[in-house]
This record gives sequence, C-alpha cells and structure tokens, in this order.
Amino acid sequence: MSVFGNAVKYLNEGNVHVVISILNTDYVIRLIKEDGRTVKNMEIIRNSVNFVNIVMIPLLFGYYQYREEIIKLSSEDILKLSKDLFNVRPKQRRVKSNFSQFAIKAPNLTIISHNSENYCLEIKPKEGFMAGNFSRYSKCYYCLKQLLKLQENEVEYISSYCPLDLFSGDRKRMRKAILNLIKNPQNNLKLFKDGNIVYNEKSNVKDFEMIIKNTSSFNTLNIFLDLITEILLGDGISDIVIQESSKELNIDTNNEKCNKDGHLPANCFLHRLLNLQKLSEKLNLNSTSNEDFRYVFMLLKDMKELNINLINMDDRNKLFETIDPLYLAMISAVAKDCSIMVCLSPQTSELYPSITLKDISLSYKISVTDLEPKSIKSLTKRKTTEQMLIELYEKKS
Ligand SMILES: [Zn+2]
Repeated sequence: MSVFGNAVKYLNEGNVHVVISILNTDYVIRLIKEDGRTVKNMEIIRNSVNFVNIVMIPLLFGYYQYREEIIKLSSEDILKLSKDLFNVRPKQRRVKSNFSQFAIKAPNLTIISHNSENYCLEIKPKEGFMAGNFSRYSKCYYCLKQLLKLQENEVEYISSYCPLDLFSGDRKRMRKAILNLIKNPQNNLKLFKDGNIVYNEKSNVKDFEMIIKNTSSFNTLNIFLDLITEILLGDGISDIVIQESSKELNIDTNNEKCNKDGHLPANCFLHRLLNLQKLSEKLNLNSTSNEDFRYVFMLLKDMKELNINLINMDDRNKLFETIDPLYLAMISAVAKDCSIMVCLSPQTSELYPSITLKDISLSYKISVTDLEPKSIKSLTKRKTTEQMLIELYEKKS
C-alpha cells in the first residue's frame, strides 16, 4: 500500500474514519468513510477540520499545537487503498468500504519523532466531574455507565477506574486511576510503541508490566505512573523534574462513592480539559434541532463575526459568555470523549520539553485526539442514557 510514494500501515478506525500511518513520516491520514447515506461534502469536512484547528485545539492548549489539513487523493489511490485495507480491517467494520477522495492529514500523535524510540499512552479519560443530575447518588456518569454496560454484557468486569480520581489533582488518586485503567482498559487506555499498539483491552496486565520492565527508561510500573501523572499535571511545555519516586500503590477497591474532592493547578492541561467538559452544565436541554452538524458552521461564523481568536484568553472568555449554550454543550461533548496522548522518548530532543526523575530523562509530548465535532443528536442520546442510569441505580439500591 502506498500514498504519495510512501508505504502506509493500517492503524485504527472508528465509525467515521480509518486511520493509516504513512511510514517514515510524522503524520497519519484519516480516510473518511462513505456509504450511500453519509456522503460528506467538502464544506462539512472543511468545517470539521476548522472546528478542530481553531476551536478545540486553542481551547485546550491556548495555542495552535497542531493543524489538520484536507488533502485530495487520486481515484486510483482510493481504489487501491480500499482494496488493500480490506483484509486488515476488523470484519464488523468492513460494511463501510468506500472512502471519500478528500482525507485529513494530521500529525502522528503516537510518536515524538520517527527517528527515535517512542512510547505513547492513550487515555480516554471521559467525564471528570460529577454532573448535577447525579450528585444525589454520589456516583459519576462513567461509574454508573459501567453498571449499565455490565447489565448489557458490553463488558465482562466493571472497571474500578473513576474519572474523578484522574481529574482530582491528588497524585495518589491519579496514579490509582491510571493503574485501574491499565488493569481493565476497555476502550479507555492503549499503549503504543513506535506507533504500534502493544497494549489494549485484549492484553493481559502482565504484558504491561513486562513492556515497562523491559524498557530501561521506566524500569518499574511505579516510575511510569509517576511520569504520566506529572505530565498530566504540567502545562505541556515546561521541563519537569520529579524529586522522589512515589511509594508503591496499594489499591483499595472500595468504590462505593465517587469522590468529588479535587483541586487541579490552574495552568495544567487537565484543568483546561475539565473546564471545557463542564460547559455542558450551562445548558438546559429542552429540544434540539434536527440539523446535526449545522451548528459547526454557525459557531465558526459567529466566531468570525465577533472576531474571536481563541489563543487569546480574553477571546476565550468572550466565547464562553456570548456564544449559544448549545454550541458550548457541543464543545463539552467533544471534550468528554476525546483522548489524551502522552508520548515519551528516551532520546531527548531540543524540540520537546523533558521530564527527569533521578538518572532517567525523557522527552515528552502531550496532545489530544478525537476532537471532531459530534452530532447534535449526541445530546439527546446522553439525556436518555442519564435517565436509564438513574432508573438502573435506583432499582439496585
Ligand atoms: Zn466515578
């Protein structure tokens, strides 16, 4: 398989995209799936890319951390790709095998550089606060949803991960959250080595320990948890020095209640992500329009008219104060479902900040993926699920 003369490799896919990496480069291409019903025109694709580039990325980072671009593939490339990819794609996904000629080029977030050794932990943290509707149950959306997933046989075991631990700012609870994700990753945690998935829900936790032990840069799982925790608490651009490694964790599995207490440093990445997630609390959803993605166009248009550039703090506040709460709820929905990518490379590079613990020093990069706009329907779906969760929980207790 090749695109523009470079060999390609199948990486991953979701409902809308197939992601392929272009070997010997630092980028990936998201092929857009098409079937008779969901032909996406150029305007929708352009709006989606602009939403990622000029709304989500500056809101999360305060600067343009990266940019996605639209590229056009030749019909021969598309035909060849869909044929070559067919056999490597999961069977249940092959129902959609046509791709748009337009595709999205984005940086490969699983690597720091293709010239070095790279480890990347992907965490899909989900909703990191207790939504108002669940306060009286002392359970967060994620933990309640686990009960539903178990009942519907979507998962074999309930995860002990609670997003409120990850977003607590309390190092011990954060380490516990990451460890619980490693023990039962579902679709919330993956580990990549040089762009290849080496650990996911199909793996055994022993595999994770082996990978870490065999890597001189981490040595122990304990040190790995320290590194990830400190990066999540950092601003993403400064060098980090950890004075002392933490004591080994003893996880107590008592998860009766989700713990709402927490305090994140104001300039840290998780804090910005959490603030975006909380934007949904401003919306009182009564009815929504049927035009699934029209809001993306409207939001971008409003921003242009108001001359809003989200790398400026004043403009970010202006957006939160003036824009339709429905659009804010849609930004929040994306922030609740995005994935954090924490990359580490033992080859230190001047292009990236470093993290140091005693004689261990690595380059790191933190970025976010899955920032494409969601359909308005996801809000109604969420409301229905909330109702189901409450009924299920009340029946149980
Ligand atoms: Zn919880």
